[in-house]
Amino acid sequence: MIEVQESKASEATIVEAVPAASVNPYEMVLTQLRLVAARLELEPGLLAILSHPERVLEVSLPVKMDDGRIEVFTGYRVQHSSVRGPCKGGIRYHPAVTLDEVKALATWMTLKCAVVNLPYGGAKGGIRCDPTRLSLGELERLTRRYAVMIRPIIGPQKDIPAPDVNTNAVVMDWIMDTLSVFSDYYTDEVVTGKSIELGGAQGRREATGRGVMVVTKEILKRLNRDITKTTVAVQGYGNVGSVSATLLAREGCRVVGVSDISTGLYNPNGLNIAEINEYVAQSPGHLLKGYSAPGVEEITNQELLALDVDVLVPAALEAQITAENAGSVRAKIIVEGANGPTTPEADVILAEKGVYIVPDILANAGGVVVSYFEWVQDLQSFFWDEEETNQKLAKIMQQSFAEVWTLAHLEGVSLRMAALMLGVRRVAQAIKKRGIFP
Ligand code: NAD
Repeated sequence: MIEVQESKASEATIVEAVPAASVNPYEMVLTQLRLVAARLELEPGLLAILSHPERVLEVSLPVKMDDGRIEVFTGYRVQHSSVRGPCKGGIRYHPAVTLDEVKALATWMTLKCAVVNLPYGGAKGGIRCDPTRLSLGELERLTRRYAVMIRPIIGPQKDIPAPDVNTNAVVMDWIMDTLSVFSDYYTDEVVTGKSIELGGAQGRREATGRGVMVVTKEILKRLNRDITKTTVAVQGYGNVGSVSATLLAREGCRVVGVSDISTGLYNPNGLNIAEINEYVAQSPGHLLKGYSAPGVEEITNQELLALDVDVLVPAALEAQITAENAGSVRAKIIVEGANGPTTPEADVILAEKGVYIVPDILANAGGVVVSYFEWVQDLQSFFWDEEETNQKLAKIMQQSFAEVWTLAHLEGVSLRMAALMLGVRRVAQAIKKRGIFP
């Protein structure tokens, strides 16, 4: 079973991780929607629908703390669209969670599910909290209270949550248990990213990073680059970042830089990722800080983003590559493991420099693809092995990459614009076919 992180990160490091205060992720997604609507000559009414989430729920969560105090946390669940199927999206625990951030992430989920053609709409949840300062018991009480408070709007055919930043299989298991207790029957299909013993899918934990690896291989092939001569830097060493680094290293890439909230590590000759994983597994808060090896130097996150590498994988939070630092990015390819790591202003600067960006709504879709597999298996109570899961995941990622790549070349647009066009077109078609009620 995956351990809940009990990070000892200081307040200063938490603050460093917060996206630039001037960047509102919801403004980012609205800008992207406006750009793609103009390109597609989308009816204004359809753009208006896509620019508003279907349903927004804000909940107050009183929690009895270990010292006897009561603390009230704020949580959200935003359902952006159920036009193509039940809403789907993760739950984030972070001090910087805001309603606008959750709205942005929910919108990206709608587009992502459409790009990889899953029968889902988009949603997202979040609780504004610093999980590194909560005990395991406090975290469990907070999670169970949140599950009950969002229960009226979630369900296997309505909205199926999953893990995101600072949540994992332990948190999903608590949600599954809470909802099963309230339903009076075993209901594992209500949430994905659970542990295997409770209906979790083989390979779900690694799925997002595996998808990042698959699309990285695809773009390297298209650009006639040899994977064994490819250098990589990864920002964020949590679920997505660490698995991306591990699998890319296994495929023969030289991972020269990694970073997390605590520090960055750099070795031009390549980092020993297996050894770093062993270190992180037992380090306080599962952080990189304190790791040392011959040839490895400590760097800042800004230095990591500016490393002279072939591939940069931002896998932390939104708005890490902005108008301020995009000019210093030297990577030739960016594969967005995180959601919204690049602002629209930075996109323009990177495009001028000829940088290829495999956009978030394609690059990190592996997680929701295997969440879909988990939901399908739970509904049928019939489970697949990891090999089958990984094969089906790779097929969907390769096909989706090919569709986006082809469209980008046909239309003469960036990969981001092509992915947005594909996603928005599919959602718009569904809206048109369903009609506007009443
Ligand atoms: P996580 O909590 O497991 O890891 C986040 C990592 O980012 C940690 O290592 C943390 O230390 C680091 N970090 C935070 N702020 C940072 C900063 N400013 N600089 C460098 N590192 C920083 O979260 P995760 O699940 O790996 O999610 C990471 C990103 O991937 C998020 O944008 C998330 O929405 C996205 N994503 C996650 C999934 C999933 O299945 N978990 C799926 C798709 C997309």
